[in-house]
Amino acid sequence: MMHPDTRLQFISPAVGHGVVATKAIPAGTIVWAPDPLDRRLTAGEFAALPDLMKAEVEHFAYADQAGNRVLAWDRARYVNHSCAPSCVSGGYDCNVAAVDLAPGDELTDDYGSYLPVEMPCACGAPGCRGIISRARSAGLVAGWDARFIAVFPRIGQVPQPLWDLVASGDRDGIAAALAGRSAVASIAGLIGTLYGD
Ligand SMILES: [Zn+2]
Repeated sequence: MMHPDTRLQFISPAVGHGVVATKAIPAGTIVWAPDPLDRRLTAGEFAALPDLMKAEVEHFAYADQAGNRVLAWDRARYVNHSCAPSCVSGGYDCNVAAVDLAPGDELTDDYGSYLPVEMPCACGAPGCRGIISRARSAGLVAGWDARFIAVFPRIGQVPQPLWDLVASGDRDGIAAALAGRSAVASIAGLIGTLYGD
């Protein structure tokens, strides 16, 4: 689920709706974590859906580590892509604010790490890649990791209302890295698992 200090808001005719902060959210805050109401569809369950539903699910779902499609039940499904996102992920199943978010700031994510299909991009960010493609993601891992590692220490310094939703294995991994007992997990591991590399 999304951080409680966020809401759905109309962004623009081109973009549609997105998720914005309703209060200040400091960098390092976990802004999304999986929860039990998110609907996980196996490949077989997805294939059995009527075509009309497939199109909707494909539009809003992301791929999880086991290759399922996951449809977030809440406004998390409306988080938009940006090639210069305000939120980042590492090798843990959660999403973290990379910058201090002020009320009204949009929470965006880079779909390149988990989108199972290619998608054209017109996000307007400086350096927009023009296309979001898993095939081009390998060269982006170092940049994603660098942003995540830069903000990582703040995870232990700011309020974390979503902490209990983070999977216990990821909580342990984050705590160990914050304590310096292990390295911060790279998103490369997550991408490899997602696509069976
Ligand atoms: Zn873009």
